[in-house]
Amino acid sequence: MEDCIFCKIIKKEIPSDIVYEDEEIIAFKDIHPLAPIHILVVPKRHISSLAEMTEEDEKIIGKIYTKINKIADMQGVKEKGYRVIVNCGKDGGQEVMHLHFHLLAGTKLGQKIV
Ligand code: AMP
Ligand code: ZN
Repeated sequence: MEDCIFCKIIKKEIPSDIVYEDEEIIAFKDIHPLAPIHILVVPKRHISSLAEMTEEDEKIIGKIYTKINKIADMQGVKEKGYRVIVNCGKDGGQEVMHLHFHLLAGTKLGQKIV
């Protein structure tokens, strides 16, 4: 089966603006930013959505939150604050079927989440 778009980004087959990378995680700027800072934090292992995660994935998902804090610090927003969003499935608004965490920051975000 053909790789999904984020797997292609992970394999550097398509370009992205990478802000953090290690052996398990990649973080790059969202191509259509909804805030001054809008970064997608993605496990390199293809997990299609949050609904598909298993106990095996608990470690990597915990690590992702630690790295989100590190990236927020690198971006200079750790003190001011930020928002982390995971869209899951059709009604959750998920468009790319490879688990990813939206890190939004750089402005006072709206109070509503829907
Ligand atoms: P979601 O709706 O939660 O699946 O979010 C998918 C996100 O991926 C959207 O915010 C898109 O703007 C973003 N996106 C899609 N293609 C790319 C790409 N090639 N590089 C960076 N971000 C992308
Ligand atoms: Zn993928």
